[in-house]
Amino acid sequence: MTVAGAGGAGDFIADVVREDNAKGTFSGRVQTRFPPEPNGYLHIGHAKAISADFGIAEQFDGICNVRFDDTNPDAEDDEYVQPILDDVAWLGFTPANVFYASDYFDQLYVWAEQLTAAGLAYVDQQDAETISAQRGLFGRPGLDSPYRDRPAEESLDLFRRMKAGEFADGAMVLRAKIDMRADNMQMRDPVMYRIRRGHHIRTKNQWVIYPMYDWAHGQSDAIEGVTHSMCTLEFEDHRPLYDWYLNHLELPFDQPRQYEFARLELTHTVTSKRRLAQLVAQGLVDGWDDPRMPTLRGLRRRGYPAAAIRSFCASIGVSKTNSRHAIEELEHHVRVELNRVALRRMAVLRPLRLVIDNWPVGPDGTPVVDWVEVANNPENADDGVRLVPFSGSLYIEQDDFREDAPPKYYRLAPGREVRLRGAYLVRATAEVVKDQAGRVVEVHAVYDPATRSGQAPDGRKVKSTMHWVSAPHAEDAIVNLYRHLFAAEVPGAATGDPLDDIDPDSRETLTGCKVEAALKNDRPGAAVQFERLGYFAPDARQPMVFHRTVTLRDEWAKLQARQQADSAR
Ligand code: ATP
Ligand code: MG
Repeated sequence: MTVAGAGGAGDFIADVVREDNAKGTFSGRVQTRFPPEPNGYLHIGHAKAISADFGIAEQFDGICNVRFDDTNPDAEDDEYVQPILDDVAWLGFTPANVFYASDYFDQLYVWAEQLTAAGLAYVDQQDAETISAQRGLFGRPGLDSPYRDRPAEESLDLFRRMKAGEFADGAMVLRAKIDMRADNMQMRDPVMYRIRRGHHIRTKNQWVIYPMYDWAHGQSDAIEGVTHSMCTLEFEDHRPLYDWYLNHLELPFDQPRQYEFARLELTHTVTSKRRLAQLVAQGLVDGWDDPRMPTLRGLRRRGYPAAAIRSFCASIGVSKTNSRHAIEELEHHVRVELNRVALRRMAVLRPLRLVIDNWPVGPDGTPVVDWVEVANNPENADDGVRLVPFSGSLYIEQDDFREDAPPKYYRLAPGREVRLRGAYLVRATAEVVKDQAGRVVEVHAVYDPATRSGQAPDGRKVKSTMHWVSAPHAEDAIVNLYRHLFAAEVPGAATGDPLDDIDPDSRETLTGCKVEAALKNDRPGAAVQFERLGYFAPDARQPMVFHRTVTLRDEWAKLQARQQADSAR
């Protein structure tokens, strides 16, 4: 597996556009399009294409349209259209227009009639298997169809009757007459139209013939005035066909050109709509927006900021070589962004009660509450501070206390002193309360009233600062922690089936977490950092449910260092 390095990948498409502009090609006009098929939700791979398509337009003061590639009524559904547009908008891009390939069905048909009349296309009445067998194999020429040289008028008549619905599905196809001996398999008389009685999401039952992708795509580009048409590398050998069709038509604008770039692949991730649909259908995830899904809606629910996805895409750039990027590289961009914007909060995921034995009681006999001031985000003074209630009854993490602590354990242990974040230094006493199973359920400590600043006046040092929540003030929360949905770096590498690499424990749901009450009043959807635990996103639908977006530890720097060491060897 190649794991691509970070950033700076030269953007060869920008170079092409710059050259075109210098030469005056397209009179300096730059127009791109993002062409999703409405047969599923967008995923992180599409984000790369969207960033490239909109990015080039933005960079050169051009425009970018969304064009739905709705040429296959069997696969497509209206339910995907609006979510796709919403996801593009969420990513931060605004299409100049929203078009549909089906907007051009009439024009495509007229052009197909012209090619047929000119003897450049013919109706083939053989079945699909025969046509496929005659195409031959790579390196071996194909065979001409017996219908290849039928008179143009005959093909034209049949094509018109295909359109009129006179023939059954699959009875015949319209094929371009190019070259059955071409080295490029795409050029061996590709099918342009097939008969299919399906219900189309927009044209309903108006058509019974549908254009194939290749016949629709370049022509749609040309009709809209696209200049640079970007797609992924698997379409590289379709480019001669893209050009062939356009070369034989009268176009309203300068002829568009196709450029191919590498698909985005990530470790521990699948980016194929078909596979993602399988995960949903088999109930392996909760739906398309499950926070473990690499769909844009899944990532958004997980708390990935759109800005982080954009900066990741900008940093990897577009290149011509396929490579798999480490998911840690994407996570790195997420952390950088969240570090900037996330509000700091305290949350205790696995609570252990900490009682401060010497905490004062007020004149009325109730324990004092001391409101300590804590910064909302040390990275951004504008986020201000908040007052957090400190009391004699707190929660700390179970992990942060050990009754029999080894010497290198710097957190709380009998006789050891730690700092409670934003508040006092406390020292654990020997008193612990255990349940019947012998588990520690309550720890006792004394606090030093002179350390409210977090510093001891005598200058004594403590080795750790821990987070905490005041028990009487805490709110209950549910917190979901995640591991990669696919345990293997390359899902399916071993068996061919990515589903074999699903980690059945990729989600851990913790109930009974104790969190700061401030979280109840935070801006809806605001990203938070739970101190020491990671970045979290409040669930969009359920109150007081949080998803861990990423942990705090940046693995990407480590990975890069390892890669450098590897390549130096
Ligand atoms: P999938 O294989 O997931 O179904 P697709 O290519 O069929 O993807 P489309 O809706 O046709 O999905 O894709 C719209 C655009 O997004 C196309 O230009 C396609 O090349 C691009 N795209 C799809 N997947 C990726 C990816 N992993 N990396 C980069 N671009 C992608
Ligand atoms: Mg596609």
